[in-house]
Amino acid sequence: MVKPTPTSLKKIDNRTLGILWDDGHESLFDTTYLRENCTCANCLDEWTGERKIMPGQLPKTVTPIAIDSVGQYGLTIRWSDGHSTGIYTYEHLRKLCQCPSCRR
Ligand SMILES: [Zn+2]
Ligand SMILES: [Zn+2]
Repeated sequence: MVKPTPTSLKKIDNRTLGILWDDGHESLFDTTYLRENCTCANCLDEWTGERKIMPGQLPKTVTPIAIDSVGQYGLTIRWSDGHSTGIYTYEHLRKLCQCPSCRR
């Protein structure tokens, strides 16, 4: 399977991140949803795979303040609550896409 890579990132608004992929697909992410799906050890139990953040638990005011790419495979997001340990691989991000064709 071909691994999708983002060609551009754009901040639609404070709560929405847009990613354009090299296969032409476009994803719009709710930033709270991304934060809830962080896969770092603080947010996801490594042993059980259990998520430590429950949906709706985070304040809606938590927004990304900086986004940096990590090598060729992912990006990190620095959040307004100080959290920055999560790496979002492109593969993971693409799976998080909530558009109608990806959710099917
Ligand atoms: Zn995390
Ligand atoms: Zn999609």
